[in-house]
Amino acid sequence: MLRLPEFNYVRPRSLREATKALAALGPEAMAVAGGTDVYPKMKRGQFTPRHLVSLRGLRELKGIRQTKDGLWIGAGESLTAVSRHRVIAKRLPALAHAAGSVSTPQLRNMGTIGGNVLVDTRCNYYDQTFFWRQAVGFCMKKDGQICLVAPGSEKCLAIASSDTAPVLVSLGAVAVLVNKQG
Ligand SMILES: Cc1cc2nc3c(=O)[nH]c(=O)nc-3n(C[C@H](O)[C@H](O)[C@H](O)COP(=O)(O)OP(=O)(O)OC[C@H]3O[C@@H](n4cnc5c(N)ncnc54)[C@H](O)[C@@H]3O)c2cc1C
Ligand code: SF4
Repeated sequence: MLRLPEFNYVRPRSLREATKALAALGPEAMAVAGGTDVYPKMKRGQFTPRHLVSLRGLRELKGIRQTKDGLWIGAGESLTAVSRHRVIAKRLPALAHAAGSVSTPQLRNMGTIGGNVLVDTRCNYYDQTFFWRQAVGFCMKKDGQICLVAPGSEKCLAIASSDTAPVLVSLGAVAVLVNKQG
């Protein structure tokens, strides 16, 4: 059985606290929302953060509402909520369909739209256990020097795997980014 390694769990009460924590903890920290990608990857040694800053329960990341420019979708909304939202289903059916196509109901209940947009790239040589990757000699995406798919390549060729990102791009969506300065 693959086990989660030890880590420090930070549970901010506001978006401001979360951005401050991420800035203070630096590259050894990662944000986690639903955790459906982060936790399996920690078990497989693909992600090795010492600290996780939880975005669950941040009310600033919740809500789906109409604005004068269009529709505002909180990054912390679950894929289930996005796929079932009345206005999204009516005005942006492709997005509702994409969110509803992700994996299984359990995963859509935990997984968020923010996490889906930022989900890690996929590759058959990378999405394996630590032991498997160690046996083939690791690749440059994590712990190795070369790309095992294309050894002559100077960059990783793993592909985007998000179901909602291509639809959001085609709809001309805009992402709002926040850091500790605002
Ligand atoms: C068995 C299985 C099947 C899957 N099938 C699919 C599929 O069919 N289609 C698909 O698209 N995906 C699939 N996934 C991937 C993943 O579950 C989904 O993409 C999910 O939406 C990720 O959301 P999350 O909230 O769990 O993200 P997390 O795992 O919490 O985070 C994912 C990444 O996003 C970052 N992040 C999350 N929220 C924010 C935020 N608000 N601001 C900044 N950074 C943030 C995290 O730091 C991390 O880098 C699958 C995963 C598993 C385990
Ligand atoms: S470096 Fe090559 S082998 Fe490794 S994840 Fe990227 S594409 Fe796959």
